[in-house]
Amino acid sequence: MTKYVYHFREGNAQMRNLLGGKGANLAEMTRLGMPIPQGFTVTTEACTKYYEDGRKINDEIMAEVMEYVAKMEEINGKKFGDKKNPLLVSVRSGARASMPGMMDTILNLGLNDEVVATMIAGNPDPKFERFVYDSYRRFIQMFSDVVMEVGKKYFEQLIDKMKEEKGVKFDVELDAADLKKLAGQFKAEYKEKLGTDFPSDPVEQLKLAIEAVFRSWDNPRANVYRRDNDIPYSWGTAVNVMPMVFGNLNDNSGTGVAFTRDPATGEKKLMGEFLTNAQGEDVVAGVRTPMPISQMEEKFPEAFAEFVDVCKKLEEHYRDMQDMEFTVENGKLYMLQCRSGKRTAQAALKIACDLVDEGVRTEAEAVAMIDPRNLDTLLHPQFDAAALKAAVPMGKGLGASPGAACGKIVFSAEDAEAWKARGEKVVLVRLETSPEDITGMKAAQGILTVRGGMTSHAAVVARGMGTCCVSGCSAITMDEENKVFTLAGETFREGDPISIDGTTGNIYKGIIPTVDASIAGEFGRIMGWADKFRRLKVRTNADTPRDAKKARELGAEGIGLCRTEHMFFEADRIAAFREMICADTAEEREVALAKILPYQQGDFEQLYEALEGCPVCIRFLDPPLHEFVPTEEADIELLAKAQNKPVEDIKALIASLHEFNPMMGHRGCRLAVTYPEIAKMQTRAVIRAAINTMKKHPDWNVRPEIMIPLTCDVKELKFVKKVVVETADEEIKAAGAEMEYEVGTMVEIPRACLTADEIAKEADFFCFGTNDLTQMTFGFSRDDSGKFLKDYYDKKIFESDPFARLDQDGVGKLMKMAVTLGRPVNPKLHVGICGEHGGDPTSVEFCHKIGLDYVSCSPFRVPIARLAAAQAAIKEMK
Ligand code: ADP
Ligand code: MG
Ligand code: MG
Repeated sequence: MTKYVYHFREGNAQMRNLLGGKGANLAEMTRLGMPIPQGFTVTTEACTKYYEDGRKINDEIMAEVMEYVAKMEEINGKKFGDKKNPLLVSVRSGARASMPGMMDTILNLGLNDEVVATMIAGNPDPKFERFVYDSYRRFIQMFSDVVMEVGKKYFEQLIDKMKEEKGVKFDVELDAADLKKLAGQFKAEYKEKLGTDFPSDPVEQLKLAIEAVFRSWDNPRANVYRRDNDIPYSWGTAVNVMPMVFGNLNDNSGTGVAFTRDPATGEKKLMGEFLTNAQGEDVVAGVRTPMPISQMEEKFPEAFAEFVDVCKKLEEHYRDMQDMEFTVENGKLYMLQCRSGKRTAQAALKIACDLVDEGVRTEAEAVAMIDPRNLDTLLHPQFDAAALKAAVPMGKGLGASPGAACGKIVFSAEDAEAWKARGEKVVLVRLETSPEDITGMKAAQGILTVRGGMTSHAAVVARGMGTCCVSGCSAITMDEENKVFTLAGETFREGDPISIDGTTGNIYKGIIPTVDASIAGEFGRIMGWADKFRRLKVRTNADTPRDAKKARELGAEGIGLCRTEHMFFEADRIAAFREMICADTAEEREVALAKILPYQQGDFEQLYEALEGCPVCIRFLDPPLHEFVPTEEADIELLAKAQNKPVEDIKALIASLHEFNPMMGHRGCRLAVTYPEIAKMQTRAVIRAAINTMKKHPDWNVRPEIMIPLTCDVKELKFVKKVVVETADEEIKAAGAEMEYEVGTMVEIPRACLTADEIAKEADFFCFGTNDLTQMTFGFSRDDSGKFLKDYYDKKIFESDPFARLDQDGVGKLMKMAVTLGRPVNPKLHVGICGEHGGDPTSVEFCHKIGLDYVSCSPFRVPIARLAAAQAAIKEMK
């Protein structure tokens, strides 16, 4: 028989999975002899059972709960629902991972009219009567809100009305009679809203409350929080039932929250707030201004001294900064909660370093303590915290690329460039972006799109550039042509100021000031330690020397993916490339491509320079050709003129390039199969650039890696590889040089994974392109799936976006298969990943586990990947 309930004395900190964080820590603090009201925890397994049983607590579990109620009564010398000495309890949520404020808690449970009367009769002090009614009205309010979902606001309105009638400002100023009246009004409100009387039986109250806490695991805000924080739905929450201690008993009582170190800066000092004559959330909810924790010393010297001692012990015990909740009842301290405190990225780094310096933690432990996702915020400019707090968002999209941006609205890439040239700061707002917008995107402080998900063009490119981006704000009604959009009932035109937060996805009207990101000394220290532990190498996805340099600064050990298509878009090249597309014969195509060759070679040389001998993996042309042809009438005419062809012919050609499913169309190595000239030109550019670089830097090991995209069959790879090898060997021979090079492939079609043993015979390396691999494994278009994935989250079919977090069960299985099939055939095969997932911490851990050699991610994610790789290795060591 499963045991579903544990007394605090039966648990410990190691039992988090079963007891939840709060329950496990209450048990641990009990073990440490700290003053904890003694109660019990209903396990997360009971939560799972609750959902399995159709959202009901079965009789068996309820019977076990009642056994523990009896034990609790015995220990505390009070009886649940008793007419003489009634026991009141709190019923509190507590999941494995802390989810502050996401789920529900009910205080003062066990009260009813009779219990209230008994309590008052036993203590004639009018202050006591006030306290009893204060507790009662709080209970009715919380129970109605949490258990019956009546809505807090009705009760708050009644309180406000009462305060108004009495001409007072704070609820502490309401007296016993007022609160008694309020309790009556609350019950009436309950009956009016629900049509039944407020339940007076404490056992029934308890059962409903436990069910409500289980149910709160599934409330909308908890669901969103879980998705944002990688917390699986299947974990469930535990429920803690414990005797109440009363901070609202009198003025010799109070409640507070505190941290053992400053959660904003990491500084080692006791931080916190305290409120006298108050209960529960009053401190956080701001019903009155609390006093700083230091002032508590004057008012409650004994409780404060004990508290300081408890703080010290807890920090020493958990060897981490603690966040605590406590209450003082009649001068006596009770601890109600402790946990490792949430902290800013800056504070996280400082605390980890300090703990090492204090001799409390090892370097490996310090590295393991940092949440890699947190680092993001350190790498981009940020909004001024106070200004941001004061601002009200008027819309929300996806936080696609972190950072803060503010500027004047522009509606096209050209305008972005033009305004920037005039010295203006701009935010580019578009329906969606396309490759030809690149330079405009670079000119913008930030990018806001109406359509597109986390791997839309705008999102991927923005992350690559380290530019803030909010994508997919579908609430915007866009009129690009007339340069105007509406959002939240307001109209925005070109030049209007706007601010976007690429971390939260929030959109604000007007300019919110920003501050530059600063990388403190601790950041470097932690990264240095991380590098000692990790096995995975970390490369970067970079197309330009600027990105490559940035990535090197941030610790990249090579380029894992250089996309060459961006190099075709600059003014002088795009014309030549369009010529090549319009050409009728292979000869004509070669002539056109020859014009591009020196540019590409120059680009590659700059990349080799930036990488100083580290590996550079260059991927050959990937997108379908139609992305390169002009769309504007004037441009089409220009092209026709240059080609000396009728406009109609050019239009017909453009129409012929149209595809119903371009992502599955004529692209990747398929282009090189049709037009081997393109691969030849690119090979020449790579090899010539490498030879030149080698001449300049004989001490560098320049060993080009050429990557063929979108392979699905070994014969196709063989065909393209032959073109590459013949061209490369010819070039090397002609230069009288000696140079080794590698030809590998992107693995991004399921068939390539399934036949990896064949493909590995022809490939020097594999690099998983998990964006396409995810798209093709799921059959979800990465540009459109955002529209319906929300329904998948709501209906619990999916918990996260497979384009943001690698799907380990399906896509991951294919990757593992490719590695397992490929390596024995070609023992020298090196394997990496260069999709967006290469910078996602959980995906990096998976790559470590399946034995990849490296991950490659956008420059600003390099430190995150380094840390995540180290954490994966440290976890394995344990
Ligand atoms: P959350 O996880 O949202 O902080 P909690 O379960 O910790 O919710 O409870 C909310 C508030 O109620 C906290 O301030 C806590 O200190 C207070 N509280 C909970 N249980 C008791 C209790 N038994 N006696 C007094 N106060 C309590
Ligand atoms: Mg709490
Ligand atoms: Mg691809």
